[in-house]
Amino acid sequence: INSWVTRAVAGDGFYYAPDPSSQVVCSIGGNVAENSGGVHCLKYGVTSNHVLGLEVVFPDGSVTELGNGLAESQELDLRGAFIGSEGTLGIATAITLRLLRAPECVNVLLADFETMESAGEAVRAVTAAGLLPAGMEIMDNVTINAVNDFFGYDEYPRDAAAVLLIELDGQEAEVQASAQRAELLCRGAGARGLRRAEDPTECAVLWKGRKSAFSAVGKITPTYYVQDGVVPRSSLPVVLAAIERLSQEHGLPVANVFHAGDGNLHPLILYSAAEPNAEKRVKDLGAAILKECLAVGGSIS
Ligand SMILES: Cc1cc2nc3c(=O)[nH]c(=O)nc-3n(C[C@H](O)[C@H](O)[C@H](O)COP(=O)(O)OP(=O)(O)OC[C@H]3O[C@@H](n4cnc5c(N)ncnc54)[C@H](O)[C@@H]3O)c2cc1C
Repeated sequence: INSWVTRAVAGDGFYYAPDPSSQVVCSIGGNVAENSGGVHCLKYGVTSNHVLGLEVVFPDGSVTELGNGLAESQELDLRGAFIGSEGTLGIATAITLRLLRAPECVNVLLADFETMESAGEAVRAVTAAGLLPAGMEIMDNVTINAVNDFFGYDEYPRDAAAVLLIELDGQEAEVQASAQRAELLCRGAGARGLRRAEDPTECAVLWKGRKSAFSAVGKITPTYYVQDGVVPRSSLPVVLAAIERLSQEHGLPVANVFHAGDGNLHPLILYSAAEPNAEKRVKDLGAAILKECLAVGGSIS
């Protein structure tokens, strides 16, 4: 299981970077099959960047080693071809992972905004300033309230149109300087409130809601249908506005929680399967959303 890896090595000062939101239940084998990403992939890359070698059983029963346990090799990268092959090429029976040294210092900023556009502008400004956060995530108002209700707390301002979480990691001085710069940029983009978590417990509290967002949304709707699209960061405001318009046109609410740093959207279409024609309506809206992603030069992810 993904999260067991970091748990096993944290005591020695290491961690495993790819952290899909499903990390407490998904397997490293499944991560390899899907080339999974997560919050920290903005800075550290996806599963493929953290798997050094594989032992694989092919359909004819033969067993092969792919990758030589080194990060870079001059050979044909069959390890890379296997990762992301969705279980179609064989079964990975042993996987050698690359672990990273835990950063000296981690800060998490929480900025809240009155409009989704200004949250998107903050993401653009932070990136344009050359900062490289470990993660940069946005939740919209529907998700904020679902998460607060799920945990019975008020960690995220309930009336905000969007909250932006920015994690900065590295050496102490670098993190302090980057966090101050990011705060200024968020203010410049129109952030209403800003909060900075500096110790591991506080940071975990701010991430907890984001990491549980899908489960929390599951509590406010009988069923939801998740889309996965990626768009150029600069197009985030346009596409989010289009999702809002499409949601109204199709008469189905949509919750947005997404990897803002790399433009990876996860619109969750909320519905009840008991409603007449529900599946067709939901699929039509999902298709319309993904067409908007394609129209701005994005893709289905
Ligand atoms: C709530 C939720 C949040 C999620 N968040 C993310 C996210 O942030 N990022 C992300 O990338 N994905 C996410 N996912 C999708 C999914 O969790 C990931 O793709 C995960 O890597 C799948 O792992 P699994 O162990 O659940 O695999 P399964 O769903 O069990 O299997 C997926 C595929 O992998 C194959 N497979 C499994 N083990 C092996 C093996 N050892 N060798 C070869 N093939 C194998 C299976 O045959 C199947 O085809 C999320 C899913 C949910 C439900």
